[in-house]
Amino acid sequence: MLARHAQEVIDGCRLLAGFSEEPGRTTRTFLSPPMRDVHTYLGSWMKRSGMSVQVDNAGNLRGVYPASSPGGPRLFIGSHLDTVSDAGAFDGVLGVVLAVALVALLQPRRLPFSIEVVGFSEEEGVRFGVPFIGSRALTGALDDDFLGRVDASGRSITDAIRDFGLDPSCILNARIDDEALGYLEFHIEQGPVLDGLAVPLGIVDAIVGLSRLAVSFTGSANHAGTMPMHARRDAVAGAAEWIGAVEALARRTPGLVATVGRLRARPGAANVVAGVCEASLDVRHASDHARATAVETLRLTAQQIAARRELSVRFDTQLDQPSVAMSAALVAPLERAVAAQGLPIHRIDSGAGHDAMILAGRMPVAMLFLRSPGGISHHPDEAVIEGDVAAALGAGLAFLDDLAGIRA
Ligand SMILES: [Zn+2]
Repeated sequence: MLARHAQEVIDGCRLLAGFSEEPGRTTRTFLSPPMRDVHTYLGSWMKRSGMSVQVDNAGNLRGVYPASSPGGPRLFIGSHLDTVSDAGAFDGVLGVVLAVALVALLQPRRLPFSIEVVGFSEEEGVRFGVPFIGSRALTGALDDDFLGRVDASGRSITDAIRDFGLDPSCILNARIDDEALGYLEFHIEQGPVLDGLAVPLGIVDAIVGLSRLAVSFTGSANHAGTMPMHARRDAVAGAAEWIGAVEALARRTPGLVATVGRLRARPGAANVVAGVCEASLDVRHASDHARATAVETLRLTAQQIAARRELSVRFDTQLDQPSVAMSAALVAPLERAVAAQGLPIHRIDSGAGHDAMILAGRMPVAMLFLRSPGGISHHPDEAVIEGDVAAALGAGLAFLDDLAGIRA
């Protein structure tokens, strides 16, 4: 029976992928016109499933399914409705459509808590360069500075909210003030781990912490033909040696990923030994201590390399975001729910940020990953397997029953 509903979920995601700013590709940024069509389509599905529906002043679509008796706590289930540019059909959207389908399956049965399905307006950070506008609104973490940020055309977040027909002066109304039981987010893994293990669902342990640094090696620029090799102070050669050490450290440290994704040489000419080389460094680990240790090791390694090559090196921290643990009180029933589907329990860390990370500041959170075939994400080939979606629906229902049993 769940196979039919799983197919409905997949069809729904594919249909929503057609609501786009660009013909032939899926691109849907914060409160762009196609978001209205998404709200209309999902909003009517929510209403048919017994939910009362509204769009809050941060542009989040919110549907409430009442509890068996008024006044109880509320369980939030959701994900985001915006996309990266040239996106697939499932990142974010799947978590919202699955949540709506779950409530539709529940109807007309009521639980001792209400359920609110949230389709967040923004998570990817594409339009304004800052992510999580939707979930930040639910925790009340949107100040005037934040709302004043502008997009490429000079429109601010406040303007975008007004352009969509909402009232930015009432944005605080989006904040959750009632008693929250917790937040559950279904999301595709966006990586190859579950697919490699042939495991359909993964229970998230933590969203990893992240350090981002700007690293700059400085030597001396000189002529590429006349300067002898032994006398050079080549900033690119120093950076290259260090980048090898970055990769080696991450490869031998369990759970650590480290990336130099951007490099710039100055003056940046083919016939000039580079005087300066600027590199980005991105380091992630579920343990904040392990992450800090790795960054420190890489700093010392860079200093040693620089000293031997008569270079100087400078590290500037741009972002130091702690890891976010999922709540044991929600992970335990989620594990039981997955086991009840006859599936193996696989715990996994999320290397990417999610709305759950923001809501964790306000309530207990948990996440369930669905396997990403081929590990493909942020790409039109992004996919899910129908059987995995059916298993997620089954696990979702079992999770709700389990929580209802605890609360009864
Ligand atoms: Zn996402």
